[in-house]
Amino acid sequence: MTEPTVVIRPSTTEDVAAAVRRAKQESLPVTVVSGGHGPWSHGSSPGLRIELSELNSVDVDGTTVRVGGGAVWGDVAATLAGHGLAISSGDTATVGVGGLTLGGGVGWMVRSWGLAADQLIGVEVVTADGDVIEASADENPDLFWALRGGGGNFGVVTRFDFAAHRLDGIAFAETRFADPASVLRAVRDLLTDAPRELTVTYMDVPPMDPSAPAGASLSAVWAGADAERLRAVLEPITRLDGVEADITTPAYRDILMEPPVPAEGEEQVPPGFVGGNGLYARLDDDLIDRLLAFRAAYPASVLFLRSLGGAFGDVTQEATAFPAREATWFVMAGAFDIPGLVDDDTRAEILADWAVIERNRIAEYSNFSPTERPEAVAGMFAPAARERLREIKRTWDPENLFRRNHNIVP
Ligand SMILES: Cc1cc2nc3c(=O)[nH]c(=O)nc-3n(C[C@H](O)[C@H](O)[C@H](O)COP(=O)(O)OP(=O)(O)OC[C@H]3O[C@@H](n4cnc5c(N)ncnc54)[C@H](O)[C@@H]3O)c2cc1C
Repeated sequence: MTEPTVVIRPSTTEDVAAAVRRAKQESLPVTVVSGGHGPWSHGSSPGLRIELSELNSVDVDGTTVRVGGGAVWGDVAATLAGHGLAISSGDTATVGVGGLTLGGGVGWMVRSWGLAADQLIGVEVVTADGDVIEASADENPDLFWALRGGGGNFGVVTRFDFAAHRLDGIAFAETRFADPASVLRAVRDLLTDAPRELTVTYMDVPPMDPSAPAGASLSAVWAGADAERLRAVLEPITRLDGVEADITTPAYRDILMEPPVPAEGEEQVPPGFVGGNGLYARLDDDLIDRLLAFRAAYPASVLFLRSLGGAFGDVTQEATAFPAREATWFVMAGAFDIPGLVDDDTRAEILADWAVIERNRIAEYSNFSPTERPEAVAGMFAPAARERLREIKRTWDPENLFRRNHNIVP
């Protein structure tokens, strides 16, 4: 029988623990919501929905930052700016610290400081038994390992402790161009040997996507308020014919995107997504050509590429549950499944094209997998990590109370 949805917005860890104990007692499926951008947060879900938005404190103690499990990254960046600090998170202000960090978190300083999860030094967790425990490298280290990439499978994280980085500012380049193929090749070559202060994102979205300006663009962040250094580093790109770059030194908080907020009472269910994503060891010419052909073939499609390497690649594969530390690029390609734009034939063609593109990926990045696909979960982890994650799941949540996620079945 499907249970009605009960929504709670706890303001303390003890409230979360009491709710989890109740859910366990009554065998209610649990949905945990931090920023609300994940696929399980939209629409009504049966069981108990724990909305963490009131657990949104951001406390700074030296370079240690304790963040409530329901805070959003825009608020974290704004608070840290006042202390000359930053954490590499994602590109969007309204995304939650909870979902992004537990899945990994690829952000604007990923090459400088690694994933959001790589900056994590400890957590407070409400377990499936309703106990409140700490996890870190010294305390419950297996659980701490699993929480860095394994998603919301292991409990409700009520507090994230990060080691933040000193940041005096950033330099930011927005680049427009006519010939994506030459720009992508040049940026690929540049990033094979670039300073790790540089992180870039390539984006090409259709006009119907409200998340970003339409068309192809390359954005770059330099971790440091040094516009001239960024200008010099990007010279192999900006000297190409038809490339125009605008280089500024905004506050880091101000480059985080703000998607439109739904009106009070209005439910914003994002359209489905046909396509996929992958972490790739190399961005070779064949992959570039296939991605550009894909984008050209489907007017409603989007294409995102993000540079990795640097500090992301310094972390060993065994150190966290996140897959593919040898990846140097993250790629996402697909189309919003909007009636009238994507019919059954187009959907089938997109999936066939994506199936070819994904062949060479090392793993799928769970956070950018916007629908629940149980059959895909194995491909989100390194082979050795899969069994370890299942063992840890059996220890901490043998009854699979926390299953509204990319689920690791115990
Ligand atoms: C507009 C947009 C921009 C994005 N940009 C980036 C980006 O730049 N980089 C990137 O890496 N990803 C990005 N993502 C993907 C994003 O990381 C995932 O969608 C993530 O799951 C969102 O986290 P959330 O807390 O907002 O979502 P939620 O829906 O609240 O959470 C997602 C899931 O995480 C789990 N969860 C969340 N909080 C907790 C908690 N405290 N304890 C236990 N489990 C929890 C739950 O299983 C939940 O269903 C973006 C997504 C969107 C929609």
